[in-house]
Amino acid sequence: MGHIRLMDEPLSNKIAAGEVVERPASVVKELVENAIDAGSTSIDIYLEEAGLQTIHITDNGSGMDEEDAILSFSRHATSKIANEYDLFRIRTLGFRGEALASIASVSKVALWTSDGSTTGTSIEIEGSHVKKQQAGALRKGTDIKVSQLFFNTPARLKYMKTIQTELGHIIDLINRLALCYPSIAFKLSHGEQVLLHTNGRGDLQQVIAAIYGMAIAKKMIPFEGESSDYRIHGYASLPEITRASKNYLTLFVNGRWVKHYSVQQSIVNAYHTFLPIERYPLVILNIVGDPYLTDVNVHPSKQHIRLSKEKELQQLVEDTIRNTIRSLMRAPEIAEKP
Ligand code: ADP
Ligand code: MG
Repeated sequence: MGHIRLMDEPLSNKIAAGEVVERPASVVKELVENAIDAGSTSIDIYLEEAGLQTIHITDNGSGMDEEDAILSFSRHATSKIANEYDLFRIRTLGFRGEALASIASVSKVALWTSDGSTTGTSIEIEGSHVKKQQAGALRKGTDIKVSQLFFNTPARLKYMKTIQTELGHIIDLINRLALCYPSIAFKLSHGEQVLLHTNGRGDLQQVIAAIYGMAIAKKMIPFEGESSDYRIHGYASLPEITRASKNYLTLFVNGRWVKHYSVQQSIVNAYHTFLPIERYPLVILNIVGDPYLTDVNVHPSKQHIRLSKEKELQQLVEDTIRNTIRSLMRAPEIAEKP
């Protein structure tokens, strides 16, 4: 008689949640990414106690019909990939089909959603158990409310840092997503306090102003460049503005905020001789390439990726940004432009 048995789904969801749901910011990330993937142009994020008490996200995206709404909380349920071919050509932020199942296993979740064609669906889930569902007239889009995060995983709850630290992670995340998606209107509130509100008009410089302030935005210069496999565009600060950390270097690959050491290093190299030692610029860098060149299936958080033709990309980034700064140094009157 063997000793091995298959886990039931609530148990395996909780184990997956250990990786996917590290802290409130991870929940916010997964839910906002879902809203982006659903084609939303307006995403509202409301928090209480830095998300530990409440994370309430409202979007105006595609919504779901009743069948999908129920299925969306099952592990490995996704509308984003269907086969191995798709896995290597991912165009959406999600694809693992794990987030909702994981989040629902460590919190209390309420969902209201409508795809606009049928009556809406409303679901309540506590610890992976669907408690209630009813239909009613709803507008198109999705509302999802996550309450009492980690209520059933006391060790994880204990590990949480202060409200200020947890909130800081969420603000940082939403700032970056807003920088990547200037055509989406983001609103982030903590209780009564509105922490960020972007207008969704597609103007990246306006988003930079909303996050870093108008004075900085005026000192950020647009750039763009192309190689045979990649296209890049974004904004780079004039050398007169510097920061003590690399935290102000924001990299996006095909609409995904990523951490990529060697490409980041190319940005730093572009500024070499223009900046004092240990000082760094502010740069928003969008990288666009065939999804086939990027492997995002490296870590559950999907923040680390592997890139093919990395050397080519590094050269493109370094040359484009360096030439942009150089041309400004040669023509100081442009740099003075208000
Ligand atoms: P993934 O995003 O990896 O597919 P999730 O668990 O995050 O997995 O979501 C499961 C599915 O639920 C998604 O594939 C999508 O079809 C649907 N979904 C989740 N959130 C939304 C939303 N805000 N709007 C529309 N559909 C959604
Ligand atoms: Mg998702």
